[in-house]
Amino acid sequence: MTETAPDLDRLRGGAPPRNHDARTIAALTANPGCARRGVMDAAGVDKDAVARQLGFPAPYGQSQFAITRGNVFEQQVKADGCAELLTLLRDRLGLTVPEARYDDLEEVAGSESREMRHARTRRLLARALETGEGTLFDHPLLRLEIGGRAVYLEPDVIAFQLAGRFHVVEIKSFAVIDGQAEPEQVAAAARQSAVYVLALRRLVAELGHDPARVAHEVFLVCPENFTNRPTATPVDVRPQLAVVERQLARLTRVDEIVAALPADLTFAPGAALPESVRAVQARYAPECMASCEMAFFCRDEARACGATGALGRSVRDDLGGVDSIAMALALAEGTLEPAAELAETAAQLRTATRLRREALGGLH
Ligand code: SF4
Repeated sequence: MTETAPDLDRLRGGAPPRNHDARTIAALTANPGCARRGVMDAAGVDKDAVARQLGFPAPYGQSQFAITRGNVFEQQVKADGCAELLTLLRDRLGLTVPEARYDDLEEVAGSESREMRHARTRRLLARALETGEGTLFDHPLLRLEIGGRAVYLEPDVIAFQLAGRFHVVEIKSFAVIDGQAEPEQVAAAARQSAVYVLALRRLVAELGHDPARVAHEVFLVCPENFTNRPTATPVDVRPQLAVVERQLARLTRVDEIVAALPADLTFAPGAALPESVRAVQARYAPECMASCEMAFFCRDEARACGATGALGRSVRDDLGGVDSIAMALALAEGTLEPAAELAETAAQLRTATRLRREALGGLH
């Protein structure tokens, strides 16, 4: 299992792979049955660039102002070996942090090779697990298996060790006002933190230790009350962990999909790009609009071919196996004989059609 297999390199058209982050993995689990997204993400394809080349750019991303504000806040919290963060953990949360050692795992002797960074993360965390040495590990580079492939997780958290347990510390720039933050932003941060907890637990297990040494309680650090003063909030991410684990287990096996694709398929820019993208089956649902850079392209495609998914995931699930609206209408009208596996769905569609006619007839 490697994430640089030749077939996946070819799919990127020679471009360097994009790292995952917790946001992309949390989003990936939102549509585990989509082969198109599974393949593109496993290959590290820049979906945003592909969508732009296809003429369907996704208007996502934070504003430059929000990015700058977030960076300034993070630098402030991490300045002087995370002095402000330690004060918070001690004073605000009452944690007994006796002495703190800060290790930044982002660079290894000037090198940014992912393999070296990951190896260093493993080495330092192994030592911490054995000896308790080290307190704050910034930018740990983790790996997680996605659809049967190991991918690197771009780090933007700190692994904080206290009394033999690790906690994920996530620094976010959305404000906590009078002890309250925007619920959607907290939920998104909790989902992302859960991905890191899971990846850290897998690493701890690989190193021969109990995965429970990574706590399900994470610390969310945010600015407080329209100031740049940080505040820390413990968040229990057990529900999000359960969802992420379940969805990752359901992800379509990428190897099987890639094996069935044309041997020369590539997502490199060029006239053949739309055809290449369409060669990998999508599973569009309106929810994609909030979570995938390919959403505008896939929505257009789903509408053009009358896919039931374009009407919503619940409609597609209710019509399991009936992929197009035209087919659903034909089954409902009885003009199409259903295959054996669709007999029950067809009967329900015909019943719904009869009830609708009766209801409409009763109005006259
Ligand atoms: S937008 Fe397209 S590629 Fe992305 S998850 Fe939805 S169907 Fe799959």
